[in-house]
Amino acid sequence: MTTQLRNLINGEWVEATTEKFTPVINPGTQEVLAECPDSTPDDVKRAVNAASTAYVEWRQTPVLSRTRYLMTFKNLLEEHFEKISKLVVKEAGKTIDEARGEVRRGIESVEFAFSVPSLMTGFKVEDISSGIDETAECQPLGVFAMLAPFNFPFLVPMWFLPVAIACGNTMVVKPSPTTPLTMDYVFKLWEEVELPEGVVNLVHGGVDAANALMEHPDVKGVSFVGSSTVGKIIYEKSTKHGKRVQIQGGAKNYLAVMSDANLATAVPNIMGSFYGCAGQRCLAGSVVLAVGDIYESLKKELLTAARKLKVGYGLDDASQMGAIATQKSKERILGMIKKGIDEGAELLLDGRNLVVDGYETGNFIGPSIFDKVTPDMTLAQEEIFGPVMSIIHVPDFETAVTTINASNYGNAASIFTQKGGYAREFKYRVNAGNIGVNVGVAAATASFPFGGKNDSFFGDLHGQGPDSVRFYTDYKVVIERWV
Ligand code: NAD
Repeated sequence: MTTQLRNLINGEWVEATTEKFTPVINPGTQEVLAECPDSTPDDVKRAVNAASTAYVEWRQTPVLSRTRYLMTFKNLLEEHFEKISKLVVKEAGKTIDEARGEVRRGIESVEFAFSVPSLMTGFKVEDISSGIDETAECQPLGVFAMLAPFNFPFLVPMWFLPVAIACGNTMVVKPSPTTPLTMDYVFKLWEEVELPEGVVNLVHGGVDAANALMEHPDVKGVSFVGSSTVGKIIYEKSTKHGKRVQIQGGAKNYLAVMSDANLATAVPNIMGSFYGCAGQRCLAGSVVLAVGDIYESLKKELLTAARKLKVGYGLDDASQMGAIATQKSKERILGMIKKGIDEGAELLLDGRNLVVDGYETGNFIGPSIFDKVTPDMTLAQEEIFGPVMSIIHVPDFETAVTTINASNYGNAASIFTQKGGYAREFKYRVNAGNIGVNVGVAAATASFPFGGKNDSFFGDLHGQGPDSVRFYTDYKVVIERWV
């Protein structure tokens, strides 16, 4: 019988009070790996109550002791590094190297949280008035909720959970029902850390569980990563219920290649950006802006490189690009390709009929490239979240910047150039939260804030870096006079 996942509430693994389950499917093989429960509002209530009770003592636990638990956790993650990476491959479909990269980045976020004692120090001014001192103290808030997407089942929760609890809060994590196994495994490691019960809780589920978290009066804030459409709903609902909220949403990332670019280094970088994780990354390139007379040679080199990419099952070492996470996502991407053709773009490389030997039922799509795309086409405007590259030929730098800034999104944008002047103008004027200069995936590391612009981000304090400490704490000002 397939394993039915359970929730970790108050230090105990408990069954969700539901009859509804979502199968967790290996996208490379279609094997059903487990069943994910659709936890109910009652399950959520139990988890939040546990987190609320745990908060009282956890907040009083010295901050250095709180981070020491995280050090034990980090050591366990190192020990289980390969096991976690393989689970990521099995449920998300990416290649083992991509999964290892994800796990390494996630561990870096745990390491960043070790610096919380020096990041939540507050500040003080003596004699703000005669004989009066004023202090801003940095305090935790209580229970936080984290709602995660399917594509980085390890990394995304690690952007939030370690900092939240190091700051003295408690947390309930709800992974995506598509990829819940990695967190399930990681929460078993939390048990070995012997954290006080209720500090970290895991509730599996979908919309009902997310809604119950946003509606619970004890939840002080919500960290969400996912699509912009859902992100808007979460933002509105959470703020309506008085929560602080940070929404990292969807993306449509443009990469501009200037005519002076060094193609020998740019092309492999562009390949990694578009086809890494089969395009299922919020920082994945989606549109190449070929500027001026580099267009023909760039197109030729991109085509040659894309044709060489080996698509296959993520656990086969030779695979350079893995599977699409779900059958539904695959159908959506195929629909976008059809729409591109219908709207008049030219499909230079068609990955739709790719079959991987030995994995004939897997959700694979080969690297695809569209040429003659124009900014008004769906291909240039909507998030595809798959291995599809659209090439737009623009005459000059100005048009490249205008085209990028017309997007509804603004997660990331890159420029490939050897001229500092272009690079400077690009980073100064382009409206995106993450800018790459000769870098195809401008992924903020753990000590830098991560967030986009426009529909790619709602809220004010980003995930990661000092912003994350501000999000999970509040200032209290104390004004003192002692005679
Ligand atoms: P999604 O928006 O469908 O789901 C995200 C989370 O919200 C999941 O936990 C899901 O269960 C929950 N959810 C879904 N519908 C809901 C609803 N109506 N009400 C309440 N909760 C709901 O996203 P996804 O498909 O899992 O992930 C892919 C998306 O995530 C892409 O758009 C990608 O760009 C984005 N993403 C963004 C970042 C970033 O940092 N900006 C990082 C990774 C992924």
